[in-house]
Amino acid sequence: MSNSDFISKTIRPEVQAMRAYPVTPPWTGIKIELMEDNHLDTPQSAPAMRAALAKAVSEAAFNRYPDPAAPELKAKLREKLGIAAHHAIILGSGSDEIITMISMATIAGGGTVLSLEPSFAVFRNAANAVAGRYVSVPLNADFSLDLEVALAAIKREQPKLVWIVFPNNPTGNAYPDDAVAAIIRATPGLVVIDEAYEPFAQRSWMSRLDEFPNLLVMRTLSKIGLAGVRLGYAFGAPAWINEIDKVRGPFNVGVLQQVAATVMLDHYDELKRHAASMIAERERLFAALSALPGVTPFPSVANFVLARFPDATAVYEGLKARGILVKNVSAQHPLMANTLRISVGKPDEMDQLLGALTALVV
Ligand SMILES: *Cc1c(COP(=O)(O)O)cnc(C)c1O
Repeated sequence: MSNSDFISKTIRPEVQAMRAYPVTPPWTGIKIELMEDNHLDTPQSAPAMRAALAKAVSEAAFNRYPDPAAPELKAKLREKLGIAAHHAIILGSGSDEIITMISMATIAGGGTVLSLEPSFAVFRNAANAVAGRYVSVPLNADFSLDLEVALAAIKREQPKLVWIVFPNNPTGNAYPDDAVAAIIRATPGLVVIDEAYEPFAQRSWMSRLDEFPNLLVMRTLSKIGLAGVRLGYAFGAPAWINEIDKVRGPFNVGVLQQVAATVMLDHYDELKRHAASMIAERERLFAALSALPGVTPFPSVANFVLARFPDATAVYEGLKARGILVKNVSAQHPLMANTLRISVGKPDEMDQLLGALTALVV
C-alpha cells in the first residue's frame, strides 16, 4: 500500500479537503502584501533597538525551557499597552495560535463558530482543524455590517464562539460600536474581538471588557514590527483566560520570542512613530486611489487599503512585473471580486506604487 492509501483512510476528510494557508515565496522588490512594518526592512534601521535586541539575545537562557508565565513580557505589555491589572493575558506564537487555542477550548468536536465574511481566513481553518462547525454571515456589498442578518444568525445558530475583526481584514472598516455591542449581548457564547489593527485604528474594546461577561480582546505585535517574531496575545477576565490556558502547549512561546518582544516594547515609541507614518500614508493612498479612473478604494482605519479595479488581476500582474507585490484577494469571497489589498509601506514605496498604478490604469 502507498502513502496515499493510508492517508485516505487515516487523515480526517475535512482536513483532506483543506488547503494550507497560501504564502508567497520571498520577494526582493517592494512588498506591500501582508501589513508588515517596512520601516524595519534594512539592517541599518532602528540601530538602538537592534543593538538592545542583540545584547538581550546573547544573554538569553536558550538552553532552558521558557517560563510560560513570561512575567517580564506580560509586565511590559501591561505597561506599554495599558492592559488593566485585573485582566489576565494569554500569549501565543502569533495570534494564529491563540485562534487555534480558543477554537479548541470552545468548538472542538462540533460546536458552532460564527464569523462575518469576508474576513480573516484563519478562523475557518482553525474551526476545520478542530472539527468545529463554521458558519459565516455575509457583510453588505460595501462591507458594512448588516446587524439584522447577524443577530438572526446568532439566534438561529446559537454559536459558542463569535469572531469580530475590528477593524476588519481585508476590508479595513470598523463596525459601529452599537452594532458590535448588540452582537456581544446577543451571543450565548464567547465573543473575541480581534484587534490586530488597533495601532492604526486607535479604537479598542479594551476599556469596555468589564461591561460584558462573554468578551475577550485579542491582539498581535505582528503589524507593528514583530511579524517575524510571532507574538500574539489575548486578555480579559482571568476566569476565561484560565480555561483557554488549559489547551495551550506547555512551552508555546520560546525564550527568543519573549526576549525579542520585551526589548522591542522598550522601543515602543519608535514603533508608534512608524504606525503614525503608516496612518498618514494610508490617507494619502486612499486619496490617490480615489482619483484614479475606474478605481474604488474602500475607507480604511487599518494599515492597508482595499480597492476595486476594473481588472484587478491585470493590475496585480502589472504591479508584480514592476517589482511591487500586493495581495490579490479577488477570489477570497464573492463580495471581493476584482479587489486588491494594498498594505501601507514607507512614503517612497507608496510613491513608486502610485506611479506604477497611474501607468497601469489610465
Ligand atoms: C494579521 C492578522 C492577525 C495576526 O496574526 P499573527 O499570527 O499574530 O501574525 C490576526 N488577525 C487578523 C485579522 C490579522 O489580519
